[in-house]
Amino acid sequence: MRYISTRGAAPVLNFGEAMMTGLARDGGLYVPEVVPQMTHAEIAGLAGLPYEEIAYRVMRPFIGDTFGDVEFKVLLSNAYKGFGHAARAPLVQLGPNHFLLELFHGPTLAFKDFAMQLIGQMMQAALAKTGARITIVGATSGDTGSAAMEAFRGLANVDLFILYPHGRVSDVQRRQMTTPVEANVHALAMDGDFDDCQARVKDMFNDFDFRDGVRLAGVNSINWARVLAQVVYYFSAAVSLGAPARPVSFTVPTGNFGDIFAGYIARKMGLPIEQLVIATNQNDILDRAIKSGEYKTNGVKPSISPSMDIQVSSNFERALFDAYGRDGAAVAALMEEMKTGGFSISQGALQMLRETFASGRCSEEETRATITHAYATTGEVLCPHSAVGVKVAEEHLGQVPMITLATAHPAKFPDAVEAAMGTRPALPDRMADLFDRPERMTRVANDLGALQALIRERIAL
Ligand SMILES: *Cc1c(COP(=O)(O)O)cnc(C)c1O
Repeated sequence: MRYISTRGAAPVLNFGEAMMTGLARDGGLYVPEVVPQMTHAEIAGLAGLPYEEIAYRVMRPFIGDTFGDVEFKVLLSNAYKGFGHAARAPLVQLGPNHFLLELFHGPTLAFKDFAMQLIGQMMQAALAKTGARITIVGATSGDTGSAAMEAFRGLANVDLFILYPHGRVSDVQRRQMTTPVEANVHALAMDGDFDDCQARVKDMFNDFDFRDGVRLAGVNSINWARVLAQVVYYFSAAVSLGAPARPVSFTVPTGNFGDIFAGYIARKMGLPIEQLVIATNQNDILDRAIKSGEYKTNGVKPSISPSMDIQVSSNFERALFDAYGRDGAAVAALMEEMKTGGFSISQGALQMLRETFASGRCSEEETRATITHAYATTGEVLCPHSAVGVKVAEEHLGQVPMITLATAHPAKFPDAVEAAMGTRPALPDRMADLFDRPERMTRVANDLGALQALIRERIAL
């Protein structure tokens, strides 16, 4: 299995290398050269299996010889044993033909645990073989950072630095990043917003001396291994509802386009997905792009679904790569144009995108109303991100069962949920003491040189 860059000018890598590299050296994102297919019989054979076994069968063809069969099974088992639900990704019903896929039973209560727990296990296993150490630096608007802290704390061959915008993440998110006690994980509270944090991380990756010197690796949502781990629950949910004999549709609350791109891969592998619906909050660059063909930034408006407050969607580049006939030079040119604020999608590419994705947007008012309404009619308490998905899904209901991804536990965003519903969602018992644990973090300026010096100093210890 070989991986190529969406910009066509970086080395071709195997799975392990693509996982360790994250962002390609030409600035592009790694994608499989060929997406492996699953037959109708192979998909049907997934029904009723434990989540870890489905994960093994779906992911195995992508992994190549990076891990042995038994080794990979052990990694999967370790990754998901800390989840608070035996099904890992249970489905609940919201209406006659509408289901909610609860992806928030992991250790930090958001879907990012599915990918992060596994990538932590996989990176550590790969590094242990050679004794090498790496430094992971990531930017977060909240959920990525907490999931990474939880996944990498205590791993022997990894130092993890998470940059988050000071004062702009929820108390639960912050505490999940600042309370792990292990010395190899570092929470850095930076002056600025999420885009500033992400820009500094990009700068570090583009500084090849620094990148090679500290053996920099990334676990942001552009890492192919993360996308791959998320493909699994599309299969587990679909077969629960009768796929492949019966097609299903999915609606995905979207920010960086990672989660929904995983659904796109599941469909390419052969899973019969009828509609794949992009759901955005008021930061609606993707909805506007699909409807108008103009991919243009519009500033970030802070919302009550902050994990989807993005200016540009980094993983959208992977969809563009396919839409432009896998022409890396064309994608590189678009991304160059992006620096001036946006570009127009070509007619051919736009047609492909519209055939592949439906889309919708949900305002702040609609998000609150959906939380209230879902609770009143089903008893289900939605987080604001999941509510964005549910609202947009309701506009796309049809003959085929609709599965909306619930991306976070409501207790992760208690203020927004309480404002909509009148009651405050409680943290699950296993993290009820989160607010009693001591916090540990470092305040940092939005200054590349100072950040690099701090990282070099910490990993030298
Ligand atoms: C990260 C996140 C999203 C957006 O996921 P993408 O893969 O960036 O589209 C949605 N909801 C929650 C709760 C998240 O943490």
